Amino acid sequence: MAELEGLEFGKSDFVLLDEVTMEQFMENLKLRFEKGRIYTFIGEVVVSVNPYREMDIYGKETIDAYRGRELYENPPHLYAVSDAAYKAMKRRAKDTCIVISGESGAGKTEASKYIMQYIAAITNPTQRAEVESVKNVLLKSNCVLEAFGNAKTNRNDNSSRFGKYMDINFNFNGDPTGGHINNYLLEKSRVVHQQDGERNFHSFYQLLRGGSNEMLESFHLQSDPAVYTYTREGATTNNDRTSHKAVMSALNVIGFSEEEINSIYQILATILLLGNMQFECDGESVQIVGLEAVNHISELTATDPESVSKSLLYRTVATGGGEVIEKGHSEQDACFGRDAFAKALYERLFGWIVSRINTVIEVKDYNPMLHGKNTVIGVLDIYGFEIFDNNSFEQFCINYCNEKLQQLFIELILRQEQGEYQREGITWQHIDYFNNQIIVDLVEQPHKGIISILDEACLTVGNVTDTVCLDSMDTKLAQHPHYTSRKLSPTDKTMDFQKHFRIRHYAGDVTYSVEGFLDKNKDMLFQDFKRLMYNSANPVLKEMWPDGHLSITEVTKRPLTAATLFKNSIVALVDKLACKEPYYVRCIKPNEMKSPVLFDDARCQHQVAYLGLMENVMVRRAGFAYRQPYSRFLQRYKMTCEYTWPQHLMASDREAVETIVTQHGFQDDVAYGHTKLFVRTPRSLFTLEQERAALI
Ligand code: ADP
Ligand code: MG
Repeated sequence: MAELEGLEFGKSDFVLLDEVTMEQFMENLKLRFEKGRIYTFIGEVVVSVNPYREMDIYGKETIDAYRGRELYENPPHLYAVSDAAYKAMKRRAKDTCIVISGESGAGKTEASKYIMQYIAAITNPTQRAEVESVKNVLLKSNCVLEAFGNAKTNRNDNSSRFGKYMDINFNFNGDPTGGHINNYLLEKSRVVHQQDGERNFHSFYQLLRGGSNEMLESFHLQSDPAVYTYTREGATTNNDRTSHKAVMSALNVIGFSEEEINSIYQILATILLLGNMQFECDGESVQIVGLEAVNHISELTATDPESVSKSLLYRTVATGGGEVIEKGHSEQDACFGRDAFAKALYERLFGWIVSRINTVIEVKDYNPMLHGKNTVIGVLDIYGFEIFDNNSFEQFCINYCNEKLQQLFIELILRQEQGEYQREGITWQHIDYFNNQIIVDLVEQPHKGIISILDEACLTVGNVTDTVCLDSMDTKLAQHPHYTSRKLSPTDKTMDFQKHFRIRHYAGDVTYSVEGFLDKNKDMLFQDFKRLMYNSANPVLKEMWPDGHLSITEVTKRPLTAATLFKNSIVALVDKLACKEPYYVRCIKPNEMKSPVLFDDARCQHQVAYLGLMENVMVRRAGFAYRQPYSRFLQRYKMTCEYTWPQHLMASDREAVETIVTQHGFQDDVAYGHTKLFVRTPRSLFTLEQERAALI
């Protein structure tokens, strides 16, 4: 709470604004950004503005300044919330989580890394080897996950194309004993196609530019990414080569075996070779152009060449009579199959890497009877809200996920406040939020929601196209206030009759192109590919394809769709977060130019609005902005009152605090809880702070 930085840097907590108006909020945010103060509190929430430049605020001295201190004792910082989450976990044995949100490029992933570094720095003071090794793996895992899960997009040169939730486990000493990573919806369509100006996942360029000559040669690869269809679009950058080394070393540290590392890169090579594979039709049947690639792929995947070409050209189908036949692909089907295979290879590789890391960091032999309660801090870094020029199925899923997280924010921030007032026996004033539950329902409601309609279309036998599906949504959702389409708003020329629908999200309107929705939702991969991989002589590869042992007649006819799987994983995530004590970092992207000096007022204001930051400030203020346990309040301010300095003779700390408050004349501005003093306006504490500063 103390204005430790001086007012020339603006207010360090938005709760301290003279008036809660958007103007004042924005003025303060901008002033602080311009003065290099990228963090500001709203109570316990940290608002962060991406500085787009190196900041000298993450060093050891800073870490020391925050370690074990209270939130209001230091200027706002990620370290302050990290410490608060850590303290709650350690002192009160609470599971906590830090939820980092904001749009693409706002600084979420960087924040998550600083948070982890902070936690690593403040734990294990005795340098026990097992703990150090766990910490090391946790930190190194970021490097690997970024190489395989991040890519350059038009918004962010190092954009995470997957969601990540990492649990860090602690023993009763407060030292990390392990962890677990959950990953969400990797944007695998990027493997085969990127928008103009974007790149494929970093890993491909790192292999091509950083791999040794022997490695590339043995994989039958050339080092120039322009040679490969899947990597043609993106130029390499200088750090692809150095990153490759870092990733190799991280894989080693984590404990991947040489065979495993080699398999990882063999799979990348396979994908690149697949991408260049072409098909031709000689009038009767479809053939692969140039059989060399088939041999190379069979070598890289430890499968036999006939099976490789067969799975690319034919698909096994079960006829109605239970007979199994081989059906030749059309050229189009062959291309579709090839790309689906490439995407699936990458997705399974990524999933396997994550689970491999998990086996290393998994808490082993933890006995709560011996070791005390095993507590957890979760860190969530998940894709932010996305509005692109062309929004597809991926954006639909990502934006739905953000609706769910916003819902959780509303629920937890309100619930937390309410809970605290109730526990302390204080009356609570209600603040109205825009409740986005209606949009969540639009997407996920059984039978009526968009996901259900999509799934139904995917399960319908026959020629159901994206357009037919759009029609069905138009019919079922015509009355929904957050859904529209060209058919429902014929005058709106920004949408196409056949293609577009629009959702009014809490963060803004997004027009989706329905093209490709059904294919992406079905996410079909011919069983032949799965079997091919399952039959690989490479045990690592085989392990990634356990479902390949099923024959075509055993395959379940109706696997869950991509949207439903995603929904289920997000529902599970929200449940996981909801039972932890939450801490929030709300990231803001100051401009579209990646500039360290530009504060785009309109863009920032939009983010402040949809992140619900104003409401957040109002909730904090309508209730009691500050609260402190009596003992701590007394400790800090006892010197400002003659009856409490140096010692008080009253029956309780609470009485002593009442004396201080009354003597300073702000008794009408406070409420006395069972264990804490609640102060409504920051001004009161401010006076005390000034007096204290004058005395010491
Ligand atoms: P997000 O994960 O929200 O999409 P990132 O965390 O990847 O965004 O940040 C995008 C880029 O912005 C980073 O690559 C880095 O260049 C810059 N950046 C973000 N946060 C910071 C920071 N705290 N200090 C310096 N640069 C930052
Ligand atoms: Mg990111």
